[in-house]
Amino acid sequence: MNAPMGRKRSHMVRKVVTANTEGELFARSRRRCAICFGLKHDTDTKKDQIAHLDHNSSNSKLENLVFLCLKHHDQFDSKTSQSKGLTKEEVKRYRSELYDFMTKVRGTNWPDHRRIEDVLKETDRQQLSTEVYDRRIQTYRTVRDFLGAIARKGTVTFDELNKFSTDTDEALFLFNRNIADYLRELYKKAVTLHITNKKLTTQYFAAGEDSSKVAEEDAELLVWFSEQFEVARERFYACIAL
Ligand SMILES: [Zn+2]
Repeated sequence: MNAPMGRKRSHMVRKVVTANTEGELFARSRRRCAICFGLKHDTDTKKDQIAHLDHNSSNSKLENLVFLCLKHHDQFDSKTSQSKGLTKEEVKRYRSELYDFMTKVRGTNWPDHRRIEDVLKETDRQQLSTEVYDRRIQTYRTVRDFLGAIARKGTVTFDELNKFSTDTDEALFLFNRNIADYLRELYKKAVTLHITNKKLTTQYFAAGEDSSKVAEEDAELLVWFSEQFEVARERFYACIAL
């Protein structure tokens, strides 16, 4: 391999990467640039460039080596690389993602890019373990039961609010931000419904509060909740369906 001209470290003693190490590196990376893969899932083969993770060209152990394209090799080695955020740890991470991916596609009709996309999709599905799937479904059932109770009674009790809040507490870790925000919205509206219903049933209103306004708000909330069966199904479907 040829170091680009004018590199500041070129005066350092370069330890030649042995043929075995080089062969292993090429085999693991399949000559794919770790940064191209890490940032863009770009799996095109690249002109061979071997970079040193610690920027020390005398450390030619396999774990210190990473296959990079010319552009990324320069970017990683340049003095300004820190400000661009191409850190050693980051590149190391991309490298392990690349190796992981290359192990998974081994035995497939290589290189077949459509097939690569399929493997990536399969990987996503595998990551949705049975346990996560079960817990996501359970969260959906909690929402459905909660909506069902509101539809039946036209209100929600304090205990039901507490239970809903507890049962959906872990959703932030199980789902994306959208679902977490949606659950929060459901909870907030349910709290309001609880309050409007309490005011109407006890006929206890704050000073100057218009009871018909409260009744109107209560009715609007019930309509909103009745629509949430469909909304919830659609939102959860996108996260749960395989
Ligand atoms: Zn690259």
